[in-house]
Amino acid sequence: MARVGFIGLGNMGGGMAANLAKKGHDVRAFDLSAAALDAARAAGCLPVGSAREAADGAEAVITMLPAGTHVAQVYADSLGETAVDTVLIDCSTIDLATARRIAAEAAARGIAAVDAPVSGGIAAAQAGTLTFMVGGTVQGFDRARPFLDDMGKAVIHAGESGAGQVAKMCNNLILGATMAATCEAFALAERLGLDAQTFYDISSKATGQSWSMTSYCPVPGVGPESPADRNYGGGFAGALMLKDLELAMAAAGGADAQVPMGARARDLYREFVDAGQGGLDFSGIIRMLSAPRG
Ligand code: NAD
Repeated sequence: MARVGFIGLGNMGGGMAANLAKKGHDVRAFDLSAAALDAARAAGCLPVGSAREAADGAEAVITMLPAGTHVAQVYADSLGETAVDTVLIDCSTIDLATARRIAAEAAARGIAAVDAPVSGGIAAAQAGTLTFMVGGTVQGFDRARPFLDDMGKAVIHAGESGAGQVAKMCNNLILGATMAATCEAFALAERLGLDAQTFYDISSKATGQSWSMTSYCPVPGVGPESPADRNYGGGFAGALMLKDLELAMAAAGGADAQVPMGARARDLYREFVDAGQGGLDFSGIIRMLSAPRG
């Protein structure tokens, strides 16, 4: 078992650090929040006073922070002097430019650094069933993999540095667009007099089928249990979907790529968040899309 530095013990990182401790690793945990440090202690980690202290002597340093600015700051302020046999693993969902830059800066010092964003949400972080999509060298991936295996059910090497973030943003572009389309189709069906359950029974077996319909149906009482059955509480917040779509749009701009569906989904989620609904699960956008056109 290894010494692991873990920085960022929020909704996701708290569960992930706890799983590493459960697997027997010596987890040195840091967060700006005292409550998060207390929870980490209760979960078997050793809380420390700074990110630098968490990284000191660690075989792997894992960051799980809100956005690229936080990750860039922690890397610049606290991870600039890690030993060459330390692997740096950033599991946050961040912008592509920052992901590539921090990995290149680490590589210039002879340090392996990978981007390893996750799919799965808070429940999967706690259960140790996340999917990791990893960008970096084969050597970096091989060194990060045992730690990611201890926190997830699937660990996939997506390609070179940044490829994990590309996979994450492209996946969530599909998810945002299909969820919005699924919600508006249910709303239209209802307005035209077609019962939601009947529409589900048909479309879930026809060509309108998707994960947004059959695994995460946005209509309460229809399909398997989902956040819709909990008044859109828990799950994947609309504000995080907006963040991911904005990251995809920024990356598309830099690559001269056409993303008309992603841009429309981004605009819809921005409207949802601006209306004060960003804390709801992202499938809650069905409420906004069910309103009369006006
Ligand atoms: P969160 O806000 O709950 O946790 C982030 C933690 O980072 C907080 O505890 C905060 O105190 C800490 N932090 C911020 N700056 C810090 C610093 N300089 N040093 C130490 N700690 C610092 O966020 P989360 O929901 O855990 O998400 C983390 C990342 O995972 C984000 O990039 C998010 O997009 C991604 N993600 C989240 C989900 C989800 O369902 N929540 C799913 C997939 C991916």
